[in-house]
Amino acid sequence: VNDYSIIFYDLDETLYPASSGVWEAIAVRINAYMRDRLALSEAEIPEIRHGLYLEYGTTMRGLEALYGIDSQDYLQYVHDIPLHELITPDQRLRQLIASYPQRRIILTNADVPHAQRVLRVLDLEGCFEQIIDVVAVSPYCKPQPEAFLRALEIAGEPDPSRCILIDDKPKNLASARQLGFYTILVGQNGDNPDSYHRSVQTISELASVLDPLLAR
Ligand SMILES: [Mg+2]
Repeated sequence: VNDYSIIFYDLDETLYPASSGVWEAIAVRINAYMRDRLALSEAEIPEIRHGLYLEYGTTMRGLEALYGIDSQDYLQYVHDIPLHELITPDQRLRQLIASYPQRRIILTNADVPHAQRVLRVLDLEGCFEQIIDVVAVSPYCKPQPEAFLRALEIAGEPDPSRCILIDDKPKNLASARQLGFYTILVGQNGDNPDSYHRSVQTISELASVLDPLLAR
């Protein structure tokens, strides 16, 4: 009999398709922030961001470490995008997510206000018992193991093997898998199948993995 207690859902590009343009819109805002607030030259920004992402997990954690930015100001600035023009609700998704008896928690490298806006636009408000954001796991972020351990602590679940993580980033899944989570990739980033247990092309196919897993 399965003993799973919590399903952790990533937010961006997991609950809606990567093709939505949300990430591209956020990326434009991140670049604008680095240009306008930090006076970095436009030409250098892509390379700096890539380096920060590799070293610190997110651009924000890197900018905090190297430039001492105010993370709250940054998060507000970069998430100021027209979400309702980019993503739309799917009623079947709400039913699907709510159909499993496990606790449901959002675990995101964005912040709570952005997560709340996304959930509202997707009509998934009230579907999740809580949102654990990048502020709550500070100074860490996914894929650092400390971020997952902090999330378990916040959720009050000491045993990672009772938890499922659903995420679009293989490196997040690989880190969680190492800790003992059951891991499910959503989307097209599945080049390295060792980093997760199972995968689905879109969140709407989740039942193909969760039904057999949770029926055991
Ligand atoms: Mg994501």
